[in-house]
Amino acid sequence: MTDKLAARPAATVLLLRDGSLGPEAFLLQRTRSAAFLAGAYVFPGGALDKADEDIRVLRRVAGLSDAEANARLGVEVGGLGYWVAAVRECFEESGILLAEGESGRPVDAARAAQLAPYRSALHAGKLAFADFLERERLLLRAGDLAYFGHWITAPGRARRFDTRFFLALAPAEQAGSHDGSELISSLWLRPQEAIEREARGELELVFATKNTLADLARFARARDALEHAREAEVETNRACWALGPDGAASLFRRRDPQYFEIHWSDPDETGLTNVALEPGVAKRLDPYVTRIIAPNPGMMTGPGTNTYLVGDQDLAVIDPGPAIDAHVAAVLAAGAGRIRWVLCTHTHLDHSPAAAAIKAATGAVLIGRPAPAHPGQDAGFAPERVLEHGDRLMLGGLTLRALHTPGHASNHLCYLLENTRMLFTGDHVMQGSTVVINPPDGDMRAYLGSLELLLGEDILILAPGHGYLIGEPHREARRLIRHRLAREAKVLSALARLGAPTLEELVLAVYDDVQPRLHGVAMRSLAAHLAKLAAEGRVRVAELRYTLVQSPAEG
Ligand SMILES: [Zn+2]
Repeated sequence: MTDKLAARPAATVLLLRDGSLGPEAFLLQRTRSAAFLAGAYVFPGGALDKADEDIRVLRRVAGLSDAEANARLGVEVGGLGYWVAAVRECFEESGILLAEGESGRPVDAARAAQLAPYRSALHAGKLAFADFLERERLLLRAGDLAYFGHWITAPGRARRFDTRFFLALAPAEQAGSHDGSELISSLWLRPQEAIEREARGELELVFATKNTLADLARFARARDALEHAREAEVETNRACWALGPDGAASLFRRRDPQYFEIHWSDPDETGLTNVALEPGVAKRLDPYVTRIIAPNPGMMTGPGTNTYLVGDQDLAVIDPGPAIDAHVAAVLAAGAGRIRWVLCTHTHLDHSPAAAAIKAATGAVLIGRPAPAHPGQDAGFAPERVLEHGDRLMLGGLTLRALHTPGHASNHLCYLLENTRMLFTGDHVMQGSTVVINPPDGDMRAYLGSLELLLGEDILILAPGHGYLIGEPHREARRLIRHRLAREAKVLSALARLGAPTLEELVLAVYDDVQPRLHGVAMRSLAAHLAKLAAEGRVRVAELRYTLVQSPAEG
């Protein structure tokens, strides 16, 4: 399945119009004999042509500068060529021309009919796009196309494209039609309807088209989608194959929780990495790191605790996990006599208790910070080496640096493998659920400070105590900070509204978006928010009731 085929730059246009039931997108069916995506319904588009960057064409682009185009796409040069290709392909394939005359008047029905004969000559390469635009004195309306998506075809197809998706409102006066050779039919469909028809086997949509339609389905009007696209941060989706628990291959996109782990552990895109989170199975994440999941799944532990083996020769165990015999045996087997150190991120009962059994079997040195005197702690964990913030450990040729990250637990450490910039986060950042901040050992103020700390570190990937590897660490840290501050704002507005509520009254108001069965856990997080606000002098508590502290100005 390995496929080193380079992805060719391409552009595609989502033409939208408003139908009686909501926005509709223009789709074309490719001929069954096409080399790429035969028979599938696609948006108009295609590969960039060298001539799309011809200076004569670029001079005829209105509404967008080259610098703006580069910045929007995140490329150094050549950004505007994607807009040109989008307009050109849209005209060739759908007959809809997003252009205007030199007077600024958009192409209308009569003008479109007059220009229609050029389509086949352009498509066949018998007429240069620059010559067409100059001869007909047309300017491309690049400002009408909003950048909306970025997809890179997964390996395994006959061709691979690195495609920028643009969104445009279909000009009311131009109807659009397929070319009759490469494209054998065309239709306007509501995104949701297209997805449903695909599910019924009535039409074929490929991965990127289907996902893009799903992204569009939430908009009530075409203009809403366009306005969203003008503001939205566009993410690159490098579609990837991986194997599931049954060995079957599936395709993944960026929004899938497995996405970054697949790319990290399968940089050659073989599609053969397995994404099942199975307890006891040693999963090789990269040349230095193997993960074994403990058999302790649950509401607080997700699929179970992640134990990591790290090293090039001798190995460190990071977070040995709960003292479950089968788990200890799996870790020892994967360690194959090379375990020399056991490190804990913190001393909660799902992270450190197996340390003793692993030390007994291997003589490994225990490293971390001792347990604070609070309930729910593994008081038996006795580190022989206590780490301070910034301490470095040499593991053979690798370097691990400790970051003190209190918040979830006062003795919490993250470990940065400096060679690959992987950060082992323990419970400071978890994949798939929100970290519990449980006072008094849990501390919301410290937690936010420890998230800020990550923003100052050069990190490529997070290896959490629960769940998959997490990509884009700084973005994730910023997301978590935003999430907590949004909750804090909700606490403050509920206090303003309710006057002097109790904790029980507050939890209903602040966690109205959380299922009642989770209100017990939410109550602890709420207590953590209130403790932070009290420490900051913004909230006062008296007789189990909470009130806002008025600033002097508010009298
Ligand atoms: Zn924990």
